[in-house]
Amino acid sequence: MKGYVQVYTGNGKGKTTAAFGQAIRASGHGKRTYIGQFMKGQVYGEVKVLRGNQYIDVEQFGAEKCITKDKITEEYIMKSNYGLKRCLEKMKEGNYDIIILDEINVAIWFGLIKEEKVLELLYQRPKDIELILTGRYAPEKIIKRADLVTEMKCIKHYYDRGVKARNGIER
Ligand code: ATP
Ligand code: MG
Repeated sequence: MKGYVQVYTGNGKGKTTAAFGQAIRASGHGKRTYIGQFMKGQVYGEVKVLRGNQYIDVEQFGAEKCITKDKITEEYIMKSNYGLKRCLEKMKEGNYDIIILDEINVAIWFGLIKEEKVLELLYQRPKDIELILTGRYAPEKIIKRADLVTEMKCIKHYYDRGVKARNGIER
């Protein structure tokens, strides 16, 4: 089956959960998904539940703490680039139908990964692989190169009222 490049971006909630939802739907048809999570090192609910899952493999290439732009270290850069290399390998090895790079747009925006390297991965995509990139601030060139781009638009969010991230909803 022919695959396409999808991008879920924008400042509204729903990008990562949409990508995981896509992987779950595909698994119902026996399709396998590899998910590389950038920026993230904490154990999110979706990562926990998918441990040992037959169809969906998740690996994280982020820090345990929240990163801010002024606290970027060589270690974060190395981890992120290792993650990208790993996603490229997984895309090419032929064991997966879907490859998801969660928060990759944010990793580019933070300067952890060069945009050109991600574009290079897009160009190397085997025709039958579905590639999904998530995260705010999707760069223009990636949007241009994608087949599907959805912008999650924040109309309102309770965190503007001071509600903290909740287990099972935000993480
Ligand atoms: P989700 O993971 O729920 O699908 P997302 O991938 O679209 O959301 P991200 O931009 O990756 O959203 O943000 C991760 C999560 O953190 C989201 O659930 C979002 O609602 C939440 N979030 C974003 N900003 C804040 C904030 N300032 N305070 C609390 N939660 C926040
Ligand atoms: Mg997300």
